[in-house]
Amino acid sequence: MNLQHPQDPENLGIDALMPVASRPPLVFTAGEGSWLIDHAGRRYLDFVQGWAVNCLGHSPRPVVEALSRQAAKLVNCSPAYHNAPSAQLAALLARASGLGRVFFANSGAEANEGAIKLARRWGAKHRRGAFEIITMEHAFHGRTLATMSASGKAGWETLFEPKVAGFPKARLNDLASVEALIGPRTVAVMLEPIQGESGVIVASDEFLRGLGALVRSHGLLLILDEVQTGMGRTGRMFGFEHAGIAPDIMTLGKGIGAGVPLAALLAREEVSCFEPGDQGGTFNGNPLMTAVGVAVFEELSRPGFLADVERKGAYLRECLCSLSSRLGLGNIRGRGLLVALELGRDIGAAVVSSALEHGLLVNSPRPAVLRFMPSLTVTGEEIDLMTDRLEQALADVQ
Ligand code: PMP
Repeated sequence: MNLQHPQDPENLGIDALMPVASRPPLVFTAGEGSWLIDHAGRRYLDFVQGWAVNCLGHSPRPVVEALSRQAAKLVNCSPAYHNAPSAQLAALLARASGLGRVFFANSGAEANEGAIKLARRWGAKHRRGAFEIITMEHAFHGRTLATMSASGKAGWETLFEPKVAGFPKARLNDLASVEALIGPRTVAVMLEPIQGESGVIVASDEFLRGLGALVRSHGLLLILDEVQTGMGRTGRMFGFEHAGIAPDIMTLGKGIGAGVPLAALLAREEVSCFEPGDQGGTFNGNPLMTAVGVAVFEELSRPGFLADVERKGAYLRECLCSLSSRLGLGNIRGRGLLVALELGRDIGAAVVSSALEHGLLVNSPRPAVLRFMPSLTVTGEEIDLMTDRLEQALADVQ
């Protein structure tokens, strides 16, 4: 990597950052659509997109316009008062999801933290203080203490002890393992329709429907973490639509702001039992971010947009399938534009750094898995180019 540029990132203060992630020695300075540009002017085809965040690509016009329009009008008035964009976005999300009440947050973890609090509040009111939320092995719900405790990420078991209590773990796609954990203290079951961070593991429609029925029969709440799967990522506005189920509580993040910090907690009217003072936050529902949310929602709602995501997702899978059979790699899985390729060996990290050298950004959430989460506006040509560059990167590693 050439760092001899006059604007060498080492001179830009990167040493002052806490080293919480291992990052390549380059600094991104600009982005457009599916492309990121580094400090030396080199262009990278981006199939990470901020971890499935930039659903309209880098610096998309609707986001730029909404930000500048709203910034000139009203940036912040505090959650102590109503503002128009937050009310407008809440109404749009409520209508689209069938969940009548919305609370805005700033990150997926914060939305999930709110979901956990809401379920516990509901349990205190309606199930004699029940507070346990059954979550799934390998789940990822965020990095606050409660959401880490709700997660089932390998390696987190002993981190930051003691954990928040009350999150027994079941196995995804194993209904009996959920049923076995239900007891008098259980208030809810919480899961991702697709476990993104653990390598794009899809909860089957059959499992989700069975879970819906199980939860109803025990009078529990169903909480869906759609931080990664929501907002068009799977080819439907929300991931649960594939199974035709109806959650009681749902969280959204990532794509909802297309790159700006915005997330949401949604609940059925009857489940929305916070009382004034139970929940809040200084930046929650601020007009600058929610104005972007409205613009993003309008883009995703354009006729044909989601069908196009489905079509491009199928094309991406097709390209990866033929690559996989040419190179003797493993399975492809996922939905819409959230797709994984099994590598068969623990070469994920090596492929990611080789791909970087070839001007391609991909992600390896598990040692033997690559994950693809391009912009929902990615083109067929960009998918072709990604496949070519990936093939070169794989050839280098193999
Ligand atoms: N839930 C899921 C399903 C996620 O994929 C993520 C982020 N990868 C989170 C929650 C946490 O979101 P955030 O990083 O915005 O807190």
